[in-house]
Amino acid sequence: ASGYTLLRDPRHNKGLAFNGKERDAHYLRGLLPPSVLSQELQERKLMHNLRQYKVPLQRYMAMMDLQERNERLFYKLLIDNVEELLPVVYTPTVGEACQKYGSIFRHPQGLYISLKEKGKILEVLKNWPEKSIQVIVVTDGERILGLGDLGCQGMGIPVGKLSLYTALGGVRPSACLPITIDVGTNNEELLNDEFYIGLRHKRATGQEYTELLDEFMSAVKQNYGEKVLIQFEDFANHNAFELLSRYRSSHLVFNDDIQGTASVVLSGIIAALKLVGGSLADHTFLFLGAGEAGTGIAELIALEMSKQTKAPLEQTRKKIWLVDSKGLIVNSRRESLQHFKKPWAHDHEPVKGLLHAVKAIKPTVLIGSSGVGKTFTKEVVEAMASFNEKPLILALSNPTSQSECTAEEAYAWSEGRAIFASGSPFDAVEYGGKVFVPGQANNAYIFPGLGLGLIISGAIRVHDDMLLVASETLAAQVTRENFDKGLIYPPFSNIRKISAHIAADVAAKAYDLGLASRLPRPKDLVKYAESCMYSPVYRSYR
Ligand code: NAP
Ligand code: MN
Repeated sequence: ASGYTLLRDPRHNKGLAFNGKERDAHYLRGLLPPSVLSQELQERKLMHNLRQYKVPLQRYMAMMDLQERNERLFYKLLIDNVEELLPVVYTPTVGEACQKYGSIFRHPQGLYISLKEKGKILEVLKNWPEKSIQVIVVTDGERILGLGDLGCQGMGIPVGKLSLYTALGGVRPSACLPITIDVGTNNEELLNDEFYIGLRHKRATGQEYTELLDEFMSAVKQNYGEKVLIQFEDFANHNAFELLSRYRSSHLVFNDDIQGTASVVLSGIIAALKLVGGSLADHTFLFLGAGEAGTGIAELIALEMSKQTKAPLEQTRKKIWLVDSKGLIVNSRRESLQHFKKPWAHDHEPVKGLLHAVKAIKPTVLIGSSGVGKTFTKEVVEAMASFNEKPLILALSNPTSQSECTAEEAYAWSEGRAIFASGSPFDAVEYGGKVFVPGQANNAYIFPGLGLGLIISGAIRVHDDMLLVASETLAAQVTRENFDKGLIYPPFSNIRKISAHIAADVAAKAYDLGLASRLPRPKDLVKYAESCMYSPVYRSYR
């Protein structure tokens, strides 16, 4: 037994919080200065230190160092200061961290599986020290946030997402496994960067890519069983839809960019209807952007509408229109459309440009998901406000610079009548003597609770009904008080409670659908979910 080793084991290290008895029992005498600090005091000290750093990337690195040094303290900070630290460990700062990953790289986190490991992926998985894994977040780095292809340096994303699974959803850190699949990169800058950490060649595609992914998916199931959740993250859309449809009937898989986004946005719409009036089927939807986010959201709205009205999906889809880089998606374009766009090709003459599409379709809900900023112009918002008493406007593109419009513009151009939410956060806005607080359609509202619900029920497949119930549960958490400020999402400060409710309802759905393997079914699922959640409070060592 060695106290020295204990101090270097992040899962068990407590630093100065080891008390006298623990220092005696674990050979720590002399390895620490005499003072004993409480976890609260350590937390206060670290938050104070963190706030001294003015550069976001330095805060990110300080947090990563803490995670490598003292895991419980890392999660205590993240949970207690979620609104302040979410932008540090996740978007937007994690994006910059990925871009510079090669230079700031100190300690490998997660598993790297490259083309060189082809034929040996099962052995690679066995090198990971933890045997009981519940959630894997995996990327191939081809579309990191809105930053494009970052190759192997995309590892920051699975690491960040999983820290939110723990902090917001209460999944044990030891049960989380971040993985980056490296098939090369098409990013010339990285290929020429001497500090780049990945394979130095163009991306493998076609059969070579498919075979590696296939081997990976089989190895994961063989090593961890049927109940490990595999979340695909930040794959380019030409692979994302394909992977999801290929594995959804044989593995417990989930794509946050497609399904998680859809569930969060549908939730905002369900909540907003309490302000705007009418049911889903009374509304007409227009999207700018028909990629992973846009078509994912559109499909979930159509599905919910179909459940509510008993109308077939083919019919409810007709209430939803999408515009891509070539204009309104219409039937005459069908031949040349990518397969995930085909369901949205309705009968209409060709229309170019968003403003013309808005005037032609007269939507009640306008959703931006193209990644291109400043596209909801004054004319577009004014048109929305001219035929809607309360236009619902969702500007989802990230980061802030790519937002379709600002919160201020949405309120001002609609004379304070718009219901607005965005992908990136905006400060409160005063207009016409009223203060409006714009909501943020952050995926972190849904995926941690959804994941916890899948885990506690021992679910073996993700079913669309679970996404729908997660949307409804989140929408039900918005209070009168939130609505009065224009918010269609609840504040983040309650996120652990929200996650427990989402988990409980997702688990209930898994049991109802016969997809749960953990028996018997707990009586009170909310209580059960809460009791399963990881707490970062120090344990005492005897
Ligand atoms: P994606 O799969 O690459 O799709 C982008 C879509 O936008 C494509 O259909 C593309 O058209 C279209 N587009 C690009 N430029 C356009 C233009 N100038 N005019 C009209 N359409 C244009 O990307 P994604 O994963 O869906 O992400 C899109 C955006 O949504 C990103 O900014 C992302 O940050 C944001 N997002 C937000 C949330 C959230 O708020 N919670 C979640 C996920 C994503 P073509 O198909 O013709 O190329
Ligand atoms: Mn993503």
